[in-house]
Amino acid sequence: MLEKLIIKIDSSGIKELVCPLRYYRTVVQGFKPKQTNPSMAFGLAFHVFRKLFREKGGDDGFGEAVFAANKYYKSLNIAVSEKKAYLNSTYLINTCNAYAELYAKDNVKPVSDPKPLLELQFPFPYRVTDTYEVIILGTIDEIAKISHGIYVIVDCKTSEKSDEQIKPYLDSYSISRQLMMYVYLVKNFSKLFPGTIFDEIASSQVGAMIDGVFPQGKDKLQFKRSDVFLFKEELWNEFLVLLDRFVERAIAIHMNPEKRPLKEGIFTDACSLYGGCPYFIPCSACDERTSDLLLERAFDRKPYDPLHYND
Ligand code: SF4
Repeated sequence: MLEKLIIKIDSSGIKELVCPLRYYRTVVQGFKPKQTNPSMAFGLAFHVFRKLFREKGGDDGFGEAVFAANKYYKSLNIAVSEKKAYLNSTYLINTCNAYAELYAKDNVKPVSDPKPLLELQFPFPYRVTDTYEVIILGTIDEIAKISHGIYVIVDCKTSEKSDEQIKPYLDSYSISRQLMMYVYLVKNFSKLFPGTIFDEIASSQVGAMIDGVFPQGKDKLQFKRSDVFLFKEELWNEFLVLLDRFVERAIAIHMNPEKRPLKEGIFTDACSLYGGCPYFIPCSACDERTSDLLLERAFDRKPYDPLHYND
């Protein structure tokens, strides 16, 4: 009997579908750049700090959180960038310090049941057939309750934005696929864990917000949170149709693992989106063999697992 195909879908994976070949390389073939870009490395390390700090709080919690974040940061193989050289250990520690000071008395608190709901990673079975299973997953930074009593998914983002860019950046999350996927997941957690706090969350209005950290160069830094976004029913209806449509696209690619999709990004400009596709150089190679050699040189290969992508 053939083994059932397990398809793990997360928001980042769906983003790769902007070009089927990009999705195929990352999710089906499991290519991952050997080096982490400096912005991403900084963000990952800050997440380590944020989770521990919000979990434990206080001076002890802070010290432990900074130590863990810095240790993790140093363990990464970070690509060298002159422009981003300021994103170093000292800058990370200063950022942690400033965040802790600013949010020492925070009115956004993680919900506890009994542990604080931080970095939640529960896979949700979206579609199960005899031949495949589609699992939706993601790491939800935090479920909090704000002063009006609304449950809010909080997603921490670190991004180098200037003062003028911060507000438009935060506002852009009012129709965010990622935030909507998290709300979708949280609303469905009650099916996985009946009789828990997720029952109450599922029957409540759930919003989402960004907890933004904005490095702006040596000695410059901003923190800003977005509004709480409440996604309207009409938007939800479209989201569910689109989610299904993208899941179908993903399934079609997984079902034909030997067939390399065409370079569709050439037609949709995906090659230059999001700061440029990581596969641009292999895709520009003169032939398939050279392309494969370039992939081998710059990428590691391991099965795509969104919950452990950066381990
Ligand atoms: S470089 Fe362009 S064609 Fe190649 S995978 Fe990326 S988006 Fe697709």
